[in-house]
Amino acid sequence: MKNTIISVKNLSKKYGEFQAVKSISFDVYEGEIFGLLGPNGAGKSTTLEIIETLREKSGGEIMVAGFDLDKNPGEIKKIIGVQLQNSGFYPGLNLVQLLKLFGGLYNRPVKPLELLEKVNLVEKAKAKVKDLSGGQRQRFSIATTLVNTPRIVFLDEPTTGLDPQARRNLWDLIREIRANGTTVIITTHYMDEAEQLCDRIAILDHGEIIKLDSPDRMIDELVAGGFERPKQVKAANLEDVFIHLTGREMREE
Ligand code: ADP
Ligand code: MG
Repeated sequence: MKNTIISVKNLSKKYGEFQAVKSISFDVYEGEIFGLLGPNGAGKSTTLEIIETLREKSGGEIMVAGFDLDKNPGEIKKIIGVQLQNSGFYPGLNLVQLLKLFGGLYNRPVKPLELLEKVNLVEKAKAKVKDLSGGQRQRFSIATTLVNTPRIVFLDEPTTGLDPQARRNLWDLIREIRANGTTVIITTHYMDEAEQLCDRIAILDHGEIIKLDSPDRMIDELVAGGFERPKQVKAANLEDVFIHLTGREMREE
């Protein structure tokens, strides 16, 4: 039996007259990597931020780890990790100082170097965020989500704009977080990312969930319905060639 850790029922969000999220329902299971996949404007961030208690909903019910979002938002905040945009970091502080600051916000002692070790940034401990590469920044912002040893981590398009190596590194990191027992909910508009990383996906379009299943089952169902790709597919693609030639090691350092 799978344990439901997030339950969303008939969630709606209106911005003025515009209905950005249209009565969507889904469950996230404990320990899975759950993806919200959709094009820009589909309502992914809106949905995520409502569950994170950072945005008001217009309708619906949400339970997170047994807590009702309407009654116990404070309890929910304690057990989730939320990735901030880079602009949210004080420019004058180095990575260790920032992690301590985050720990202070949660009223928790933190071990900055242990956290930096998890995201492979120990050698950047004294650096400022502005001096990090794109991939390093994303890894650092993921470290900040782990400060309160959350049960659920929310990542909003964490790999957008990264090069292929940095993306793969981030996938590995996200898999490690999950392997440590943390549930991950991630948004993306990259199909390959959703396919490789997510156990289950909700495809969101115009504020509605048009499909929810594992990537494997979605593909099998399409194929069973008689779908065929127009051309013979090669066993590799250009990205495979690129990674093969340039290697998988981290390049941003
Ligand atoms: P996604 O993250 O999937 O790109 P968003 O949740 O950011 O989508 O946005 C969904 C829709 O809601 C978009 O059409 C967007 O323009 C609109 N929207 C988002 N935030 C606001 C806001 N604060 N005020 C008005 N409209 C908004
Ligand atoms: Mg978004």
